[in-house]
Amino acid sequence: MPISVAIIGSGPSAFYTADALLECGQDVRVDIIERLPAPFGLIRYGVAPDHQTTKNVSRAFDKTAREAPVSFFGHVEVGRDVSVSELKSMYDAVVVAMGAPHDRPLGIPGENKAGVVGSAAFVGWYNALPEFRDLNPGLNVKSVAVIGMGNVAIDVCRVLVKTRAEMAHTDIADYALDAIQAAPITDVYMFGRRGPVEAAFTNVELREMGKLDQAVPVVKAEHIPADSSAVADLSERDRRLKERNLATLREFTLLKADSKPKRVHFEFYSRPVEILGGAKAEGVRLERTRVENGQAIGTGEFFDIPCGLVVAAIGYRSGRLAGVPFDEKRCLVPNTEGRVEQGVYVVGWAMRGPTGVIASNRPDGQTVAKHIAADHAAGGKKPGRDALARLLTERKVRVCTYDDWKAIDAVETAAATKPSPRQKFARIEDMLKALGD
Ligand code: NAP
Repeated sequence: MPISVAIIGSGPSAFYTADALLECGQDVRVDIIERLPAPFGLIRYGVAPDHQTTKNVSRAFDKTAREAPVSFFGHVEVGRDVSVSELKSMYDAVVVAMGAPHDRPLGIPGENKAGVVGSAAFVGWYNALPEFRDLNPGLNVKSVAVIGMGNVAIDVCRVLVKTRAEMAHTDIADYALDAIQAAPITDVYMFGRRGPVEAAFTNVELREMGKLDQAVPVVKAEHIPADSSAVADLSERDRRLKERNLATLREFTLLKADSKPKRVHFEFYSRPVEILGGAKAEGVRLERTRVENGQAIGTGEFFDIPCGLVVAAIGYRSGRLAGVPFDEKRCLVPNTEGRVEQGVYVVGWAMRGPTGVIASNRPDGQTVAKHIAADHAAGGKKPGRDALARLLTERKVRVCTYDDWKAIDAVETAAATKPSPRQKFARIEDMLKALGD
């Protein structure tokens, strides 16, 4: 009997796992279960809409989805339509590939005010993720504060200041593009609690900030050290990358802040301590820091930056799924090399936290596929797909197949105004309507 595997989630870690299972040398049946009608998770809903080449990996995932042993169960929510314990009883192996879709809290006073959003919500909003369709982030502001110095913070800043022409080739949600283009934003502040050497962004993403049509990066020369020697324990590769960032930032210090109509201010050594204002955010209070042994140390000097919108891009967290252990402190599913407990495995950001690029998920999938093959060397014992399909039919769940997704995909593609590749549906009911439901 084939080994039956249910993968919960359909982002990169799910597809890399499916791919590795097909290569593992055993007879497998792989069912990818996704709560939305559309697959690809982070590729569709997390990657910046103007980074279309990064999304090309979905072509390889599309090929995997069409392989005979693989089936897509879209619009099926684990925890609502089927429980983890039911999946465990039906499948030889259950793989949790749910990523890290939630925002981490800032943990400072005022963070619950209107006008303060996390990057998971904000990025989800401009990428047409259904639960954030109605976020209405309040863009009628001149200044925006983005907290964090990672690649997501850079994505958010860039999308906020690019022109309509610069966004023409993207698949940004139409309502988000209209709202951003209508906004009177002139200044976006990016706050890092540590210095340029400690910043988490990578050089390609940083350099893009110097090539924008109507926005100029503003960097204080006194914040850029002569070299990266203040951080001792860097690998040779990391040191080279840090030096590259310093060189780019040094170039930015030479640019004139008024050379373009909009500015993205890189504010290092700035730790947010409070969101100011009444019911709605009116500014951020920050403490100037210095870095000692890699830690941001407050200097006791405070300053305020007025802004009507705060986006916290400080990293993501995974969420608890009933029936699967969860480490609240580390915000992930506790595991040993992807093994969670008998018959349950985890991959990707839910396994190791929200770090790395898309391809970093590939080794997770390979490791877990190897474990599944070894744990079921004599073949599978559980019915898998047929049992799930029967249960979902009994419960009258409207399952979206991979063919259904291709139909939605075709409608989105046809609705796009070229050179945009697609106009995304942002509501599940509109996707189902496109299927004739
Ligand atoms: P990240 O790389 O971990 O960056 C998070 C940033 O938030 C860091 O600068 C961190 O500063 C800061 N931060 C954390 N907690 C904070 C707090 N309480 N107050 C103030 N600042 C705080 O996370 P990310 O930007 O969400 O990216 C997630 C992963 O996706 C990363 O591996 C990233 O490279 C990847 N990604 C890649 C691309 C791309 O390749 N183009 C695009 C997007 C995302 P400290 O360092 O001081 O903690």
